[in-house]
Amino acid sequence: MGTNARRKKDRARARRRQENARRGRTRETRARVEGQVAEIQARAAAVQDPGTPPEEAAQALLGLFDGRVPTHGLSRLIDKGGQGRAAAVAEAVLELSPGSVVGLALAADVAEREEQWERAEGLYLEALYRTPAAPDGEWPLEPGSSVGTELSVRLGGCIMERGRVADALDILFNACRDDPGHEGAQQVLAEALARAREHGRTIGAAEPCPCGSGRSHGECCGPREAAALARFEDRSPMYELREALRVFLERPEIDPLLVQGIRDWYLGRPPEEMGDPDEQEVRLAVERALVTMGPRPDDDHYVLLDMFSEDPSTPPELARRAREWRQFAIFGLWEVGETTPDPGLLLQDLVTGRYVHAAVAPEQLEGLPRWSVVLGALLPVEGIWRSGAGFLALTPTEGRALADEALRLGRVLLPHLVPRAVAGPLQRELDGRRKELRSGAPSEDLEPVSPELAHVLDKVVGGAMPALRDLLRELRARPMDVRNTDGEPLELITARVRLRDRMAAEDAMEAHPDFVTHETGWVWYGKPADAATRAMNEAVVGSELEVEEDSGRSVRAFIDADGLERFKVEVNSRGRLDRLLEILRRAGAGPSVESETRIDPALDLPAPGEAVGGAPRPPREHEEELAKLEAEAMAAWRRSWVDEPVPALGGRTPREAASDPEGHPLLEALLRDFEYREQAARTHGAPGHGVEELRRTLGMA
Ligand SMILES: [Zn+2]
Repeated sequence: MGTNARRKKDRARARRRQENARRGRTRETRARVEGQVAEIQARAAAVQDPGTPPEEAAQALLGLFDGRVPTHGLSRLIDKGGQGRAAAVAEAVLELSPGSVVGLALAADVAEREEQWERAEGLYLEALYRTPAAPDGEWPLEPGSSVGTELSVRLGGCIMERGRVADALDILFNACRDDPGHEGAQQVLAEALARAREHGRTIGAAEPCPCGSGRSHGECCGPREAAALARFEDRSPMYELREALRVFLERPEIDPLLVQGIRDWYLGRPPEEMGDPDEQEVRLAVERALVTMGPRPDDDHYVLLDMFSEDPSTPPELARRAREWRQFAIFGLWEVGETTPDPGLLLQDLVTGRYVHAAVAPEQLEGLPRWSVVLGALLPVEGIWRSGAGFLALTPTEGRALADEALRLGRVLLPHLVPRAVAGPLQRELDGRRKELRSGAPSEDLEPVSPELAHVLDKVVGGAMPALRDLLRELRARPMDVRNTDGEPLELITARVRLRDRMAAEDAMEAHPDFVTHETGWVWYGKPADAATRAMNEAVVGSELEVEEDSGRSVRAFIDADGLERFKVEVNSRGRLDRLLEILRRAGAGPSVESETRIDPALDLPAPGEAVGGAPRPPREHEEELAKLEAEAMAAWRRSWVDEPVPALGGRTPREAASDPEGHPLLEALLRDFEYREQAARTHGAPGHGVEELRRTLGMA
């Protein structure tokens, strides 16, 4: 598949994920709206009832949304009581309270649904003129609660729909700066940035500008769109802040606090006992210390970042950025579903299910296989979310294990973090979340938790990072133990065996009870596999040579005739190949191995934690022939895998799981795991496993 086709496919996937994220939010919004309408019905018993005159409904709405922006999409619900009802209610609101935000925004909401973008734009603008601007550098305590920001985001959306992407970007950057926690603002900004990038790729400088000005794109919005993309990717405002922080942290009175923070990271143990910390990890430890360490023993809410922002020598704009970091940064386990920025990446926190659209430094993405999970902080700088300085890259399995542990800790800590009255419902929600995550469902099927629970879980993850890091160390210390049913280390070997006397070989196999003929050759059966070995192997490689037949016996090898004087032998350990050769030798067949190709899962599949980077594989002799053999072995693996019962699929075969919509989530999760391994293996120069091919076979593309 060419780079372009891949990029196109990746973009389509990113769209789908964004769409899912948006739909998740719409669902949430709808639930909220419905809750509010229930309130309206309880208080005014009117809004949705077609029998209620619009004036009465208007009165009720004014009472409910006094000075606030009615929920986006509310007009749809009002229209349920009769076509055109929402427009009539909006008009009535404006008559009762001319120029009110409630009336203007509701009328704009109606226009948006009818795709009358110009009208909607005018109404939102008028509402904005009537809304006092929020003071700079102070953010609403509850994200999304600021009237001005909410109106700006909707205005930006309408302007974008009219093709004025550069204008929309100006408005949206400001909205994000005014309320970095506003999820809708992030979403619309992401869409506008993607459109700007698309314009850059598809519209020539001399072509007419899509804004409708009549000028060429190159002389109108083109340069502004390019500047907006550059602004999104420019990390210098963050670097500036980091540099000032670095100098601050070196002060003699501050340094001991930082040292203590790093010691905390290693749970008081000497760092060398915790493995060799790389630069990434030290940065992560420092980033955590900035929000956990403080000078006042009786006040853990006053931390290093607060000291920095309040220090008289800190320039005001850097103080503002430090306060923004302090208020909004989120530590999480971020799943990287896409590795091609567009220009940002939609990252999902596996703990809370929440999405953040962030600009990630290219060097942090280098060598990162798709579906990796990164442990670290995301933080807004001037409203643009960015990856923090230090990330620990995890495999998908490690990511889920750590997210599960974070939720377990959350369960333990919850009663200490929230008032007793709300602990019960939050606990139930948390349990549901943990169960969902454990079911192995793909991340976009995981609904984001409520903002209340997310708030608690953020604190837990921030606090528990050293414990999570410790768990990761333990996971990685466990040796990769992949064995076949004979207890031998698993290697997938395909060997060409030349025979001096093929008839002698066939006679010997016919006489041997463990060999059974099939269409193209023989199967060599072994003893029954014990459940634990099978589960382990399946989990790690999905080994095809451990299939239990009806007899309950495992398969030791597939032996196929290869011309008149050769066998092609597929076997999953060195020991088995040696034993087979011994059987043939004793029978007088005179076997000799002409060539073999070997896939060592422990080497080929990245060991956990070693997936990223690493040295490329040295060139081999007969590279071309070997590559051909490997490709063949992989094709054989794919052919058999799709029809084998897989424990990770509840004992069903991939083909069975693919044919049942309920089986899709687990199968998808498994395919993603393969995709991760394939990409990781490629960075070491190893051949792929053909996951795309598998997806096509299964209809899971
Ligand atoms: Zn233009």
